[in-house]
Amino acid sequence: MNYISTRNKSLNFDFRNIFLRGLAPDGGLFLPTDIKKFNEKELKELSSLNYIDLGVEIISKFCSPPLDKNKIKIILEKAYSSFDTKNIVKMKKIDNINLLELYHGPTLAFKDIAMQVIGLMYEALNLNKKKINIIVATSGDTGSAAIAALKGKKNINLFVLHPHEKISNIQRKIMTTCDSSNIYNIAVKGNFDDCQKIVKQMFNEEEFREKINMSGVNSINWARIICQIVYYFYAYFQMSSKVNFSVPTGNFGDVYAGYIAKKMGLPIDKLIVATNENDILCRVINSGEYKPSHVKPSLSPSMDIQVASNFERLLFDILNGDDQKVIKSMKSLNENGFFKINEEEIKKIKKNFVAEKINDADTLRIIKDFFINYGFILDPHTATAVGASYKIKNNSKTVVLGTAHPYKFLETIKLAIGKNVETPKQFSNLLKKVEKFEIIDNKLNDIKKYIIEKIK
Ligand SMILES: *Cc1c(COP(=O)(O)O)cnc(C)c1O
Repeated sequence: MNYISTRNKSLNFDFRNIFLRGLAPDGGLFLPTDIKKFNEKELKELSSLNYIDLGVEIISKFCSPPLDKNKIKIILEKAYSSFDTKNIVKMKKIDNINLLELYHGPTLAFKDIAMQVIGLMYEALNLNKKKINIIVATSGDTGSAAIAALKGKKNINLFVLHPHEKISNIQRKIMTTCDSSNIYNIAVKGNFDDCQKIVKQMFNEEEFREKINMSGVNSINWARIICQIVYYFYAYFQMSSKVNFSVPTGNFGDVYAGYIAKKMGLPIDKLIVATNENDILCRVINSGEYKPSHVKPSLSPSMDIQVASNFERLLFDILNGDDQKVIKSMKSLNENGFFKINEEEIKKIKKNFVAEKINDADTLRIIKDFFINYGFILDPHTATAVGASYKIKNNSKTVVLGTAHPYKFLETIKLAIGKNVETPKQFSNLLKKVEKFEIIDNKLNDIKKYIIEKIK
């Protein structure tokens, strides 16, 4: 499979290369040149597979060679052996809501589904065994999923940048109580967008990147996306009629995986982009203006993002793969603080996507009502997607992606329903453990210095 960059169509990279790099050398995002489209007969065959075999069929379409089906199967079996449900994900019907629980992995958020696989892909693809330094920005869940997947791995160091005091207490504790010597937690005095910007700047500094043999596992890494495509297929096969998916959205990675599933032939009607008050995606989808504003802290912190990186992949598509136009848009974003797409292009997005904003007050109300009516506790991210699904009226059934376990957002749940969430068994000792992290100013050079110091 050949990969290009959204900013350079003539690039010619293989999967191993794009996996280890994460971000294209020109600052663009990697995309495959071909996407396999399954016909009806092939879909029928896929529908009878279990989660792992389905994953093998889908993931291999993007990474073989170097990873063939046998290798992928071994990786998936190992990756998902720690999940606490047999089928990796769980579909629950609660009244009209079809909830797909994606949080049965070691850190109780959907990020585990891709990250556990990525951890093993590093071992399979890092052929020269040179030490890799992975730098990742997190709005709370990516970091813990990456730590769970990479702790104790030989030849890998992991540096996790989270926004200081802007994630939940439990999210922070899960990350900072890991005592593996290859894990470093940095609390950046800024917000998630600042963390993400620092990581992107490091990627763009050829010399620094080479010096530390840097790699990245943010959702800009294509491997994350392909692992997430699998559960869209799995969920559809449980519904077996045209479906909408309602997706709690921040960096546009998860819902974009749904878009690729649709391109692969899955009969998806609308992809519902649920946002909190950080609603840049609602604005661009409804008005065509992509304009980041200040990040507003909300009750769904993993979605407190204004620069939704993966949107560049969709942009490339709706601009008919014109890399020069993507470059122009990104230049305008850098220089003027925004870019615009025209009516025609908005129409193309709206064919596949609907966007809805759910504010904090509504999020609390949805959690409370859901608990009173069904005795089920939604986490605040999933609650935004439930809220967004109520607003969509078409003839398709809707699957809501449940992205996190409510325990990770104890304080918010207490606020909504006046009760504590039972502690999941994985975390029975969490509150007693000692935390370890470094607080550093929101300055690229300070963070680079810290990293260099640690890997000496
Ligand atoms: C990361 C995350 C999201 C947002 O996913 P994106 O791929 O960044 O759009 C939503 N909910 C939870 C719980 C998350 O951890």
